[in-house]
Amino acid sequence: MEFEPVIGLEVHAQLLTESKIFCGCTTKFGNPPNANTCPVCLGMPGVLPVLNKRAVEYAVRVGLAVGCEIRPRSLFARKNYFYPDLPKGYQISMYDQPLCVGGAVTIETDGKRKRIGLTRIHLEEDAGKSIHEGMPESATKSYVDLNRAGVPLIEIVSEPDLASPEEAHAYLTSLRTLLLYLGVCDGNMEEGSLRCDANVSVRPAGQQKLGTKIELKNLNSFRFIQRALQYEIERQEAILREGGAVVQDSRLYNPDSGVTTSMRSKEEAHDYRYFPEPDLLPLIVEEKWVDEIRAGLPELPLQRKDRLVRDYGLPAYDADVLTSTKELADYYEAVAAAAGNPKTASNWVMGEVLRKLKEEKTEITGCPIAPRSLADLIRLILSGTISGPIAKEVFEEMWRTRAASEAIVKERGLTQISDEAELLRAIDQVLAANPGPLAQYRAGKTATFGFFMGQVMKATQGKANPAVIQKLLTDRLKGS
Ligand SMILES: [Zn+2]
Repeated sequence: MEFEPVIGLEVHAQLLTESKIFCGCTTKFGNPPNANTCPVCLGMPGVLPVLNKRAVEYAVRVGLAVGCEIRPRSLFARKNYFYPDLPKGYQISMYDQPLCVGGAVTIETDGKRKRIGLTRIHLEEDAGKSIHEGMPESATKSYVDLNRAGVPLIEIVSEPDLASPEEAHAYLTSLRTLLLYLGVCDGNMEEGSLRCDANVSVRPAGQQKLGTKIELKNLNSFRFIQRALQYEIERQEAILREGGAVVQDSRLYNPDSGVTTSMRSKEEAHDYRYFPEPDLLPLIVEEKWVDEIRAGLPELPLQRKDRLVRDYGLPAYDADVLTSTKELADYYEAVAAAAGNPKTASNWVMGEVLRKLKEEKTEITGCPIAPRSLADLIRLILSGTISGPIAKEVFEEMWRTRAASEAIVKERGLTQISDEAELLRAIDQVLAANPGPLAQYRAGKTATFGFFMGQVMKATQGKANPAVIQKLLTDRLKGS
């Protein structure tokens, strides 16, 4: 029997607000443990939460970008559970009346697009963190850091529309890129700004009814998410093939052993004893404000990709790479506009610039060459002033010294040689110095043409105009 997996993802994204969701404490990451706390986020008796308007704005921004309905009235609720990193004994979240419902995230796998439906997006507060390692008495004690307690989160819940681990990976990638474009989350999975749980079940192919779902917790790395899902799908299939039944539970993936293990039996919503948060009024979001937020939305990654293909004639692959971050796309478009040749600009940004950024382990925001300077360099190539190989040398020097391309070319005498008489002299010298290959060429071994091209380039220190040598060399070898 053939089986098919059904996957839905729950993504928690920390919002990039300056302060926490219900108090004025900073959200800054990396401060000493418990430095970012106050009576509100420590859960002292008698304190009252005050909602951070910016957190609501960011959640609405995301909701609008993925086509959710923004509900004019939503309600915070208490989700009750005890955990050492949750001093109040409850988390303020949203339950039956979330802020955003519906919408979809478009993913792309193998060049094909698919809409992954969303159930809801709601606001909630993050919990603190238990620390079990690396502290002075970690051998016998656990520690609690409440800096994270009260940091605003949105939980983005997808429909079970994902049909493979690859689609789950693509969904997470698209969502992360979108959140970065919107400027509402830094997308840093290592620091926990973006966290992912998955609901996964398998069923006989073609069957409508869903199988028993397993919750996979903390899939907090792009590297592991596909492997974890693949393992879990195979585990469930094996159980069903042997005629067994999958038992509903929450499981953890261990990247070292590559297997998932049961954490606890899955809790149901009623285990949390949700009830409306008595310390907060219902959240009323006025239409006028929603319209203002909508008007401030940036161009979204897929729209931008399509525009680069349409307006600049770029291949889809180029457009995909160039729109992977908003900053890279901005850089590229500035270069293309100033250079006047979008495809050459794309080749340079995707080639030399990305190669160099990778080598230096930095991002486009750390690129020492301004878009206009790169465009100047590209124009020197397009006008025939310098050759491609020389341009790469100039680029290296621009990166190192931040000097302008014209100045480097002038100072080092790198101007391309297009003068036919001068190039003919170089060609004749090369032919005279290599009688062996010349005889081979004349005997019909035309592959030696490339050898001669290389020798002439070498003789001119890479400054010869390749198109001109090619023409002159062709004529010379014909015996003219
Ligand atoms: Zn606080």
